[in-house]
Amino acid sequence: MVEDDTLILAAVTKGLVERGHVVLSASTGLGALGEIVDQRPDVVVLDLGLPDIDGLELLRMLRAVSAVPVIVATARDDEQEIIRTLDAGADEYVVKPYSAAQLDARIRAVLRRVRTDDGDEPVQIGGLTIDTRSRVATIDGQRLDLSRKEFDLLWHLASRRGEVVSKRELLAAVWRQPYGGPEKTVDVHLSWLRTKLGESAKAPRYLRSVRGVGVMLADPDSR
Ligand code: CA
Repeated sequence: MVEDDTLILAAVTKGLVERGHVVLSASTGLGALGEIVDQRPDVVVLDLGLPDIDGLELLRMLRAVSAVPVIVATARDDEQEIIRTLDAGADEYVVKPYSAAQLDARIRAVLRRVRTDDGDEPVQIGGLTIDTRSRVATIDGQRLDLSRKEFDLLWHLASRRGEVVSKRELLAAVWRQPYGGPEKTVDVHLSWLRTKLGESAKAPRYLRSVRGVGVMLADPDSR
């Protein structure tokens, strides 16, 4: 819960806890950003009216580093504002004042969608199989000998397969550095991962770099 109104926070937290949720809270936008990256909640409920930063701005910053589902709490039933919010990357919205029961229903709906899209099933991309439960990746049936970071990097790219992922997002997701850091770290690990996948930057197969934007994992045979 990202909410600066302590009365709303207390009431909603109580209602959510009664319904079986574990609730962490932040009362500022920038505080929330760090908490979200560190604590990796299943879902974020974001109040748009925060003391330090515009909620929509925060949502855009959050989207640069995390794909966590976001339910926006908006003060007015204003169609334009709701559209802007959804365009900025929110998954759902509730209009204030809302009850804990309504929010709980929205949370369950969002989590159902996320879990059907992206369960813990092994991911298959061309000849590459990545199983996050056993932390084993294979290519054409051969097991890849990956370090922990290499596996996490491969898994994050696989969860966003077919999309260009920025190095900044990778630093946040794999190295937990939400405010940026040495992109060289990402480059070095990408290069090791490439070698293990039997490819190179000059002759890419699964891993394709997009200069100045990031890197994408995709089936080499489906381009
Ligand atoms: Ca507020």
